[in-house]
Amino acid sequence: MSKLISKWNYPTTVRFGAGRIKELPEVLAATGIKRPLFVTDPGLAKLPVVASTLKILDDAKVPYGVFSEVRPNPVESNLTAGIAVFKKGKHDGVIAFGGGSALDLGKLIAFQAGQTRPVWDFEDVDDWWTRANSDAIAPIIAVPTTAGTGSEVGRAGVITNEATHTKKVIFHPKLLPAIVIADPELSVGMPGFITAGTGMDALAHCLEAYCAPGYHPMADGIAVEGVRLVFENLPKAYANGKDLVARAHMMSAAAMGATAFQKGLGAIHSLSHPIGALYDTHHGMTNAVFMPYVLAFNRDAIEVRIARLAAYCGIKGGFDGFAKAIIKLRKELKVPHALPGLIKGLDMDKKRKGLIADMAVVDPTAGGNPVKLTKKAALTLLENAIAGT
Ligand code: NAD
Repeated sequence: MSKLISKWNYPTTVRFGAGRIKELPEVLAATGIKRPLFVTDPGLAKLPVVASTLKILDDAKVPYGVFSEVRPNPVESNLTAGIAVFKKGKHDGVIAFGGGSALDLGKLIAFQAGQTRPVWDFEDVDDWWTRANSDAIAPIIAVPTTAGTGSEVGRAGVITNEATHTKKVIFHPKLLPAIVIADPELSVGMPGFITAGTGMDALAHCLEAYCAPGYHPMADGIAVEGVRLVFENLPKAYANGKDLVARAHMMSAAAMGATAFQKGLGAIHSLSHPIGALYDTHHGMTNAVFMPYVLAFNRDAIEVRIARLAAYCGIKGGFDGFAKAIIKLRKELKVPHALPGLIKGLDMDKKRKGLIADMAVVDPTAGGNPVKLTKKAALTLLENAIAGT
């Protein structure tokens, strides 16, 4: 295996490899950003990984500001506060540094700071993105510190509307960062729960993209290799967080998942989104809980495809073997088998279940599920995930 250091231009420029964070000043110059706003989350802001990155900017005498009021599952008030800091500091670009939450919020600050319409007008619906003033979008540099969402190579940002308790996907082609620094050394500090949850998020993206109906052999090809990388490397990264090779492959798998899911996602995400919005659960971990139930539900439509995927990944036993491998992987990563293991004291009445099923069927990801996600099916999947059956 050659050294895991590379530069890709797919779907954007990715400077990949351990230690490449030191190229940040050069990357700022390449994107024309002179006064960046560094956007991260409050947990990361206290860790050495942020201090050492800011030192790189200090040493290069870059005048920057820092904004870290980013909740996991960011909300509109985080965005409003970030835009105020961006404008007050006369910033001309964003360094989005962190997991999906900080990446998404950083991207959205760069996007929304120059817009006059509310952010909800740019939801990923039809061609709503054309309503935006494209010239007013500031350049974005993305630096992932988790390996799951792939937001660093995506043209979307996810934000929760607190008024309606719904997660909304905001889309614009210019939400795609200009340059990504994918440095696996930045991810070694991730605790086990986050390593597991984000890694399962990458798997969910690859798996759902691969199973989504429609002709997109490029996305399919990326997704199958992404799945293989996760099976081979996520247990290693979980068992030994300092395994840089496993961390590097997981960072690739995350970017591959998000590249592939332009083909579509499915019911794992349709159910995970309302749960995340209502219970503030970790997105990837919620996907991991729903995964086997959705896989079983979709069986008739995807049995042949999954058998092909299993063979590629070296998993014996076709669809059944693959389903067992998912269960085994979840166990190894201590993913709760059922929702009450994720949400302590969960007590959902009929009305709440109905609400979640209603939200799932209208989630934009539902259309990508290989079997139509009706309200009845969403309710059954939810009941299964609660009971663990
Ligand atoms: P996250 O960004 O919410 O971070 C989770 C926790 O991990 C935080 O407490 C953070 O401080 C910590 N953390 C991050 N990196 C760390 C590191 N290197 N060391 C130690 N701690 C670290 O988690 P996430 O799973 O990366 O992102 C989830 C968010 O991404 C959700 O809001 C979800 O909706 C969104 N998302 C977006 C897309 C997209 O396409 N834009 C796709 C999937 C999910």
